[in-house]
Amino acid sequence: MKPFRKGEGGPLAQGRLETRIGDKKPLYTDGEAAAEASRCIYCVDAPCIEACPTGIDIPTFIRKIATDNVRGAARTILADNLLGYSCGRSCPVEVLCAGACVYNHWGRPAIEIGRLQRYATETALSRDPALLAKTRKPPTGKRIALVGAGPASLACAGHLALDGHEAVIFEKKSIPGGLNTLGIAPYKLQADDAMAEIQFVLGLGDIELKTGMSVVAGEPSGEGEISADSLLRDYDAVFVGLGLGPDRTLGVPGEEGPGVYGATWLIEQIKTNPEFSLEGVRRPVVVGGGNTAIDIARELAKLGLGEVTMVYRGAAEAMSGYAHEMEGARLDGVRLLERRQPVAIERDGAELRGISVAPVVDGTADAARGETLGCDLVALAIGQARLTDLAKAFDGVDLDERGRVLVDDATCRTGHPRVYAGGDCVNGGKEVVNAAQHGKLAARDITAVLAASS
Ligand SMILES: Cc1cc2nc3c(=O)[nH]c(=O)nc-3n(C[C@H](O)[C@H](O)[C@H](O)COP(=O)(O)OP(=O)(O)OC[C@H]3O[C@@H](n4cnc5c(N)ncnc54)[C@H](O)[C@@H]3O)c2cc1C
Ligand code: SF4
Repeated sequence: MKPFRKGEGGPLAQGRLETRIGDKKPLYTDGEAAAEASRCIYCVDAPCIEACPTGIDIPTFIRKIATDNVRGAARTILADNLLGYSCGRSCPVEVLCAGACVYNHWGRPAIEIGRLQRYATETALSRDPALLAKTRKPPTGKRIALVGAGPASLACAGHLALDGHEAVIFEKKSIPGGLNTLGIAPYKLQADDAMAEIQFVLGLGDIELKTGMSVVAGEPSGEGEISADSLLRDYDAVFVGLGLGPDRTLGVPGEEGPGVYGATWLIEQIKTNPEFSLEGVRRPVVVGGGNTAIDIARELAKLGLGEVTMVYRGAAEAMSGYAHEMEGARLDGVRLLERRQPVAIERDGAELRGISVAPVVDGTADAARGETLGCDLVALAIGQARLTDLAKAFDGVDLDERGRVLVDDATCRTGHPRVYAGGDCVNGGKEVVNAAQHGKLAARDITAVLAASS
């Protein structure tokens, strides 16, 4: 197994644009971590634990840091969340654990739980990447297939491996990790750090990762495909961690053509494609008001691409993106144009010239009062499609009216007794920590069911 160190996780090329963006919350020194940990009062009914979707025993791990037991702190975190390292860096702690910290009621800064979690996991795993592998149970001879190598499947595979099962992950892209590798804002987590964590997970036991391998609903049409049916036939259980589909488009005139990109596609280029350049871009416009819109706006601003404008059809208060992230965007110099709806993309021949936006009054765009914003790049962050076909290919798997896979909340089991699902394809798009929790719940149930049947 490769060591758990920055830049040593995977085959990512140098020269990626994301590497020009600095780390917003660098790794604590030992002294900083000890000082911050000593502020925690180890609440008995700790509200921070309640607020963590994976239920990490936060006061216990913080106490271990304070008593110089970093290895023990990491073990406490990883017992509940195998992706505790990336979650420590990318979780919106302001609305989760730190948001619930009792210090908020006293008008004092909440404990920096995310930074302490990063400190514990990064420090301990750098010293001993096999920290948990030693707790692995003996082989059971059971095999589980996992669709997608995003956080949901990785967490599930890691827990399954620790339980002694063989896990085989099928990932359609060449780079594993899903949005944790390809989507998280670089000032929180860079792709090679996510890859280092994947190496840690793969080292937990008998896990095979097959990249460039799509699971398909019907008959496979080539070597890079495998059918959903064959997974059901050849494995004891299947976990579906598909995530979401491609970026949605506006459906306005002029949209097709150079300079207009889906936000997640654009972020993936910034994070992983060393050939991708944004040279010459001076006036980017981002459409949307969610966290993806804020992320790409901040990334473009941090890359120094002139004035970045966000166009959002509602009022600023109604944005689904976190207020603390929007505040960060403003500090990065991002301008928000609220209550505006794009109605056309303006081009001179093929060349992008601007985006025409109309004011939104009482929920309706008033095209007659539209104006054109000159721009040389448009990033569309208006949601992602659902990958419904593959999910439905498994007999008994049902979707709700919004295309989310229906599962039992406690076990993540679908309507098919041997098919489980978790992450964004189930919750419609939340956080890495929610995907990690689903993977853990599914693995626990798979182990219990397989043990009962053997
Ligand atoms: C731009 C952006 C920024 C984000 N920032 C944060 C953040 O700061 N903090 C945070 O906690 N969360 C963040 N999130 C959300 C977080 O990344 C997701 O909630 C999480 O990655 C979901 O994990 P998942 O495993 O369900 O899906 P994904 O991460 O999407 O992984 C699904 C995987 O399945 C693969 N796949 C799909 N179809 C197939 C198929 N047919 N065969 C094989 N493989 C397939 C995909 O290629 C992908 O690798 C962000 C999301 C976006 C879009
Ligand atoms: S709520 Fe705050 S002070 Fe209390 S245990 Fe959690 S982190 Fe420590």
